[in-house]
Order: sequence, then C-alpha cells, then structure tokens
Amino acid sequence: MQNILSRPKILMIYTGGTIGMKENPVTKALEPFDFNHLLDNVPKLKMLDFDVEHYQFENPIDSSAMTPEHWGEMVKVIEDNYKKYDGFVVLHGTDTMAYTASALSFMLENLSKPVIITGSQLPIGEVRTDGEENLITALQIAAARDGEGNHIVREVAILFENYLWRGNRSTKRSADNFNAFKSNNYPELAKIGLGISFNKEALWKGGDPEKPLKAHYEMDCNVIFIDLFPGIKEQSVRHMLATPGIKGVVLKTFGAGNGPNSQWFIDAIKETVEKGIIVLNITQCNNGSVLPFRYVTGLDLANAGVISGHDLTSEAAITKMMYLLGRGMNADEVKDYMEYNLRGEISS
Ligand code: ASP
Repeated sequence: MQNILSRPKILMIYTGGTIGMKENPVTKALEPFDFNHLLDNVPKLKMLDFDVEHYQFENPIDSSAMTPEHWGEMVKVIEDNYKKYDGFVVLHGTDTMAYTASALSFMLENLSKPVIITGSQLPIGEVRTDGEENLITALQIAAARDGEGNHIVREVAILFENYLWRGNRSTKRSADNFNAFKSNNYPELAKIGLGISFNKEALWKGGDPEKPLKAHYEMDCNVIFIDLFPGIKEQSVRHMLATPGIKGVVLKTFGAGNGPNSQWFIDAIKETVEKGIIVLNITQCNNGSVLPFRYVTGLDLANAGVISGHDLTSEAAITKMMYLLGRGMNADEVKDYMEYNLRGEISS
C-alpha cells in the first residue's frame, strides 16, 4: 500500500514517434525532435498535482526502427527506477506500439505498477494534435490510486484517445484515426470521457506488490510469421520453414484456425514440427479464437503437431515466443507456456 498523502512521482520515458516529431523545414518530412520540445509545447504539464521527471532515448526513433535492444533499454530504465517512481509513461510511435506493449508485458515479470504507453497521430506541436490529451491522460492514469492508496493499473497498457487497452491485447487498427488502437478480444481497461472510468473487472490483478519486479532481457529473434493466402506456393512455404536457425513459427491461418488441405502443406508443417520447431496457429481474423477441432483443416494442423494460439494477437504471439525462447526453454516447455495465460494475454 502507498502513503495516500504522498505526491505521486511519474517517470516519462521518451523513445520517439510522431508525438515528439517536427517537420524538417527543408525536406518537409517528420523527424524525431528533442524532448524539450515536448515540454515547451505542453505547459499544462506543470499544472498536474504530481511530479513528472523524464528519461530520453539518446537517439529518439521512429517506432518502425524498434528492436528488442530498445525494449531492453526501456525495461532497464523501469527496473532501475522501479522503487523511486509510482508509475511510468512511455512515449512511443504508434506503428510498433502494440509489439512493444506486448514485449514489455512479458519482460516485466510481477509488475505491480502502471506502465502506460502512448503516442499520437499528429505531432504535439500541431494545433489539432491528439498528443497533448494523450500525454496528460496517460500521466493521470499512471498516477491514479484507489481509496486505499493502491495503484489502480498494475500492468502494461496502451492509452490512446478514448480508451485504455491491455498492452498485450492491443493492435494498431488505423493509420489516421485518433482512436488508433483496439483490443478485439478483450474489453477496455478504462474509458476516457469527461472523466476516466476504470473497468475494475478487466484490470490485471496478477502482480503482487509484496514481491519484487523481475526484469528479463533476452528475446530470441529466431522466429517468423507465415501469413497464409489461397494459392500460397509450396516453394515459398518450404523456403520460409527452412530459414537457418529458426526455432518458432507463428502461422496466421484462416477463420477458426484453418489452412490449405494440400498434402504438401500438411507434410511441410509436420516435418518442421518433427525437427523440434514450434508452430503456433493464430487466426488472421481481427476477432475470435482458433478452434482447432472445429474443421478438418484445422484438425489436420493439430494432428501435425501445431499448437493453438487461441485468441492471441499476432503481436503478443510473436513476442511471447521470443520471450519464452529467450528464457532458454526447450520446445516442449515453450509449447506449454504458449497456451498458458502469463500476463492476461490469452483467454483461458
Ligand atoms: N511512424 C511513426 C512511428 O511509429 C508513427 C507514429 O508515431 O504514429 O514512430
């Protein structure tokens, strides 16, 4: 429990993205700007009834350039400052925000403080920016406590426009709408209107404040997506499955987890599984879950040794696989944990 009277302290971590970008006067392209630009443009930050300090990436990036090393830097900053601050706000580009939110949720084991990721569609210096509101709301959520002084949010979440979503359930759904994110298989954690209305039922209750945060840094990138489409060729599938060093495949299938019924396809998948490579089935649909036993085409994949990703998002599926492999688990352990709910990413 926190001292209810103490003034919350929030650490803002600026990684880059549109929110802190500025137009280059020569090329007219948006490029990352210095963090001080942000404070200059949001004088309201000084009106908040809690303290905000900041940490800035040495070279702020467009989030399309995001790597697991950048995730490691965010995790390190949070781990090093965990006791000193009540919550963390990560300013991030929208393009890979859902990947970062998913990755951080796995890398930060036993998190019991808020890590709120936000950004914007328009740079904060622009008149119609959504950045100012997103930033202020994210800070308020990071500082929010219940009547007993406990943190209301104890997980990694994405705040964008009118909603707070669980990070590892989120997907970027629009390249231009201010409500750019959505969680298709899980309700919102909070709705933002005149006030911030938390959905208490949906919030993660897993992190035990009595136990220390455990940060993990290793993410194994020997994983790939294979996105199916009618007419996909055997040579393409076999070529991807023969990627040197590969340890895991996230197979994006049709509907409730179905794939082509051609014998070459089932054989190629079976041979891959027999080599000890993990093949995980997730659906290409925005909403719903893999039901491997519903159709014979899904059943063929299950019989070939493919495991079900249930209702995982593709961002959560790939980062969870990277995380479990990074922990040094063998294929059987990874398979077990992929189907187990670690941080609220999968419906059990
Ligand atoms: N390309 C930008 C990025 O992801 C887009 C954004 O911030 O919205 O960094």
